[in-house]
Amino acid sequence: MSRSSRIHPEGTPWSRREFLRTGGLAALAAGCGVRAGADPRPEIVQTAGGTYDAVVVGGGIAGLTAAFYLSGLKIRVLEREAGPGGRIRGGGGARGEMARATYIGRPYGALKEIIEKLGLEPWEIRAPLEAVFRDDQILYGPDGLAQLLSERSSAADFERFRSEVLADAVAYQDIPELDFTLPAARLDDVTAGRWFADRKWPPVFAEYYDTAARGRFGASLDDLSALALIPEMAFGLGGGTGDVAAPGAASGAFTFDGGLTALTSALAGWLGDVFQPRSRVIRVSKPDIDYRVEYADSSGKIKSLRAKFVILAIPAAEALAVDSGVLKAEARRLLDTVAYSSSAAVALATKESLFGRAFQLALQDGGAAVSLRDTSWLAGAREPAGVVGQSGTLVVQTAPAKLGEADWAGLMDDDLAKAAVRAVSRVFPGLPSQLAGRQVVRFARAYPVMSPGAFRRAARLNEVCDGRVLLAGDYMIYPDFEAAADSGDFAAEKVRELI
Ligand SMILES: Cc1cc2nc3c(=O)[nH]c(=O)nc-3n(C[C@H](O)[C@H](O)[C@H](O)COP(=O)(O)OP(=O)(O)OC[C@H]3O[C@@H](n4cnc5c(N)ncnc54)[C@H](O)[C@@H]3O)c2cc1C
Repeated sequence: MSRSSRIHPEGTPWSRREFLRTGGLAALAAGCGVRAGADPRPEIVQTAGGTYDAVVVGGGIAGLTAAFYLSGLKIRVLEREAGPGGRIRGGGGARGEMARATYIGRPYGALKEIIEKLGLEPWEIRAPLEAVFRDDQILYGPDGLAQLLSERSSAADFERFRSEVLADAVAYQDIPELDFTLPAARLDDVTAGRWFADRKWPPVFAEYYDTAARGRFGASLDDLSALALIPEMAFGLGGGTGDVAAPGAASGAFTFDGGLTALTSALAGWLGDVFQPRSRVIRVSKPDIDYRVEYADSSGKIKSLRAKFVILAIPAAEALAVDSGVLKAEARRLLDTVAYSSSAAVALATKESLFGRAFQLALQDGGAAVSLRDTSWLAGAREPAGVVGQSGTLVVQTAPAKLGEADWAGLMDDDLAKAAVRAVSRVFPGLPSQLAGRQVVRFARAYPVMSPGAFRRAARLNEVCDGRVLLAGDYMIYPDFEAAADSGDFAAEKVRELI
């Protein structure tokens, strides 16, 4: 969820897009393309369909949004998988359950336009959205968090903390203009861990947010820049969202029946033949004035499309893998510094709904941070009378203690499922006897890590890639669905300006 839209629910939306627009439209440079001419490889491809105005690589929300804003032009979206949606792609088992439990902030900007155009109906998840488990106690919403942090420090410390975070969050709204002389922009230079230490907050504050950050992003306070955490913290503290702890009150979080995949599927449907699944792009080159996008179709046959513009709406590492010299050296260097956290989602089906008191619960279990999403809470929001006694699914997103921890990657699915059951049993001791099934899905690249300098890097990537090969994706703005959509909108806008 785009944190800032959560901070100002009914006010002006996040102005990140304005910043991007400013940067993007100012420079009508030749773009990232650096190497026209000779291609040393033998010709192994067949060319189809003439020259496209734009080929979008990747059918996640970033690529689909780009295509939406390019409609009317001759375009194509090439997607590796059988369906759209990228990381939140639905399907069977744990993947489908995880997708069902995804949500966004109050729709605005690109997503709002798309939702309206497609006639979709997002609905608001009931409050309290978030809860925290500490010392055998579940504390709900911002009030629960306030209680926890005040009791472990002092009411005065907590109040000072809350007002500083909310003030930083307001300043953060201006960062999208990316004037790095703004004091708030300097929060991009330090880790969140350093921020807590420098401001001498009671240790319990950092301890709590470390669990929350790892459950949410798979990255610790020492991995993330302070700037990446500020909007997260502000939302959890109830910044601007009203009384989100009150039962039935607005949570500021929205979803669809089926989760966010309802949106990506509808969008891909709306695009029709423009969306081309089972087409894994293997190489983007520039043999002459146009680009050549080579891809393997479902039978493994290599095909190619010619395009005036290419939008790489795929994770940074994958953009590097398909680039055949069309990206500038600086862009390649910057892309190479984008790290991703990994995570696993374990879907635990239960005979009866076990939680049903909030949507999301953060807890720590030994070295692992766990973020639990309760799909029966969503069902309850749709049919308020019918939650208790219904079967439910707890989706347990679990992340390693440290970014890239080798032991964790080596765990078998069964070990991860056991760990999830153990962690959740601490909160709900009745879980083992209630368990009706468990399934695991792993995300090797779950979230781009907004480490110190990540916001500056995104700004620079936007400047560098401002020509005919454009980058889009959540790493270009912020690791969530809305930001990824914004990045696609922005890339499309550049194409429209330049074409
Ligand atoms: C478990 C989990 C839960 C999440 N929950 C939420 C949530 O509730 N709310 C929220 O706002 N955000 C959530 N996020 C984050 C959100 O899913 C991402 O930020 C967003 O989906 C990123 O979209 P994208 O288009 O940038 O990238 P992706 O979704 O990764 O899309 C990239 C697409 O490109 C395709 N692709 C890659 N390489 C190639 C290639 N060579 N050729 C062709 N296609 C290729 C991929 O198959 C994929 O479809 C969650 C993430 C995870 C992992």
